Amino acid sequence: MDRVIYHCDCNSFYCSVELLSHPELRPVPTAVCGDPKSRHGIILAKNEPAKKFGVRTAETIWQARQKCPDLVLLPAHHGLYYEYSKKVNAIYDRFTDLIEPFGIDESWLDVTNTLHLFGGDPKALADRIRNTVREELGLTISVGVSFNKIFAKLGSDYKKPDATTVISRENFRRLVWPLPVTDLLYVGRAAAKVLGQYGVTTIGELAAFDRKALTELLGKQGGQLWEYANGLEHSSVAPAGLYTPPKSVGSGETFPRNLIRRDEVGRGVAMLADQVAVRLRKHAMKASTLQVTIRDPRFKDICRQRPLDAPTNTARELYRAAMDILERSWKSGAPIRAITLTAHNLIPEGEAAEQLDLFQSAAPKKRERVEKLERTMDAIRSKYGREALTVAALARSQEEDEDDGEMPF
Ligand SMILES: [Mg+2]
Repeated sequence: MDRVIYHCDCNSFYCSVELLSHPELRPVPTAVCGDPKSRHGIILAKNEPAKKFGVRTAETIWQARQKCPDLVLLPAHHGLYYEYSKKVNAIYDRFTDLIEPFGIDESWLDVTNTLHLFGGDPKALADRIRNTVREELGLTISVGVSFNKIFAKLGSDYKKPDATTVISRENFRRLVWPLPVTDLLYVGRAAAKVLGQYGVTTIGELAAFDRKALTELLGKQGGQLWEYANGLEHSSVAPAGLYTPPKSVGSGETFPRNLIRRDEVGRGVAMLADQVAVRLRKHAMKASTLQVTIRDPRFKDICRQRPLDAPTNTARELYRAAMDILERSWKSGAPIRAITLTAHNLIPEGEAAEQLDLFQSAAPKKRERVEKLERTMDAIRSKYGREALTVAALARSQEEDEDDGEMPF
């Protein structure tokens, strides 16, 4: 029997939670942002009226005000969002115990084995959950209903706010295939660019592409994306209770052509540092040691590691440490086929904070600022994957005052 998977996504989550205590602002264009006092503060969420003015998540306050001069800005209250996130998930918990949160405002639910207790109609139960959240908490969610997690996620994006979309084996070709390939979970900027070069811009075109060719172009990910596009994704909804912290976190890339120039190497390292940092933060861990593996065109590996100045989970610090290792162990101009960054000796964030005092970090303010900025990026990415692609550039504009070791993206 086919599984019944829901993906439930709170609409404009941060802003909706803030508006619970400011109902008078509902009809007024309103946004939640990182730091309302800074022109460079980033928009984290906006309500529907602000959307009509073209205000977008991840742009700066300055950019948003150009389009909507009367935009009301509210500061973010992250603690409150966590509380509401728990309340929303507690409602889901009445309908199944298979709940996998994905970021603060999204969850997958597997209701295959409980659906019969609630009438047996997948769409009707999704509507019921949606109505329950609205009536009890005053928040709206959109729900995607499908036979796998990837299509359920597409369904929750398909129509919002406060809507249910069913993507079935019968209709997925009609509903999903015309969508841009970047709508598919895990299609990042790099993959989209490669696909674009081969004329693949929609999910349907990805589905029709030769699977083997995709694997050659994008590695293992290529085959995976092909399965996603064809509705062949089978991963199960994994309840958070099954979580065990990782011992190390690594990310590697075989580049389409060998890297030679320092700036090319820098871009590759920055991308990997970012991937490792995001995953460390997701696990609330920091790394004490960084390892860099460089593979040359003859498949000869050089592997070097060094302790980090202080435990970290920011891309900026991982990037700097990796470049430092590279500079010592890589002969400038020698071609590089693949690079892997691996974070070792992981410790929980809480412990890391205590250790940090011992290191007497030279610039605790700056470190705090970078951590905050990268967390903001996580929030945006988990909520708005596609738009978040502009965040890196914004990060740079926010950090104009930095003079050392700029990440090259
Ligand atoms: Mg959301």
